[in-house]
Amino acid sequence: MSRFWSQTSKKILPYVPGEQPNDRTYIKLNTNENPYPPSPLVLKAIRENANESLRLYPDPECNELRERIASYYGFNKEEVFVGNGSDEILAFSFMAFFMPDRPLIYPDITYTFYDVYASLFRIQHTIVPLKDDFTIDIKPYCTDGAGIILANPNAPTGIALDIDNLETILRNNPNNIVMIDEAYVDFGATSVMPLIKEYENLLVIQTFSKSRALAGLRVGFAVGNKDLIQGLNRIKNSVNSYPLDRLAIIGAMESISDNAYFQETKQKIINTRERIYENLNDLGMNIIKSKANFMFMCHKEIYGEELFKRLRQKGILVRHFNRPRIDNYIRVTIGKDDEMDIFIEQLKKVISEN
Ligand SMILES: *Cc1c(COP(=O)(O)O)cnc(C)c1O
Repeated sequence: MSRFWSQTSKKILPYVPGEQPNDRTYIKLNTNENPYPPSPLVLKAIRENANESLRLYPDPECNELRERIASYYGFNKEEVFVGNGSDEILAFSFMAFFMPDRPLIYPDITYTFYDVYASLFRIQHTIVPLKDDFTIDIKPYCTDGAGIILANPNAPTGIALDIDNLETILRNNPNNIVMIDEAYVDFGATSVMPLIKEYENLLVIQTFSKSRALAGLRVGFAVGNKDLIQGLNRIKNSVNSYPLDRLAIIGAMESISDNAYFQETKQKIINTRERIYENLNDLGMNIIKSKANFMFMCHKEIYGEELFKRLRQKGILVRHFNRPRIDNYIRVTIGKDDEMDIFIEQLKKVISEN
């Protein structure tokens, strides 16, 4: 604490990302990173463009990248916004559509950054509990009384809402923006993006960090009605005119182009997830069926934090959230097949040693 801090600095509870330790080598299943490297074409393009052009500012509007994303998903570039990770786009969205006087509603168990931004930007918010089975009851979201943000699939549960339910929410909120954070959608859920043509209140946010293995490059994007995108641009141009650097733009463009690699690696992750489900079940784990690149699970006898600690001692990092309702769970990122085999082996030891 310093006497120079603002009231906001003093009061805010910042987001705490998963640990990135370097005291030893871990099997890292704690931050939902992709276990496969980025496409070789992405790396090649970045290398080739690491040259004297870095002297120059990048295109502030990221026109080529927006064009590439738009044509991949069947939109115009005016309907696409890109940012320095989707976290930045979420921050811009909270400023563009809520701060300071529009209310927001979201679930009690979800991506904790929503809470951080709501307090940082002093947005009035209502938190609605998930049902006991961690699914979303859509009724509280159908009152047209507040803007909505939902992660779909949800984090850290991995549970996805289907399109019919999402459309019901959209239809019942003609006067409120509905933001759907699809950070994990590529791992088996269905995107609501096609509904953008019908619903001008829908903003879909995605990222290159998870399914495209580019967490280190920091690229996210949003798709929505062009007026919503314009709102995001107004905030962006008031904070940072060049959120994406030249290499990030080049790498992200190449990632979209190498669709074969993208499809292949995301399918491998889905296959691994489905393959290990039964093995974990046999160990007595209670696992939530996931549509994401992670699984949320608990054991009937070993407390979540204990599982986390004992796995860590065995060289396996998973994520534990010390929060009400979910403190008995661990969230395990889907790694490569051999990493998951080691995870299962070590988990078996932890359980048998109990
Ligand atoms: C990882 C994640 C993000 C942020 O991704 P970046 O693009 O890396 O900033 C956003 N939302 C959810 C739900 C996530 O899990």
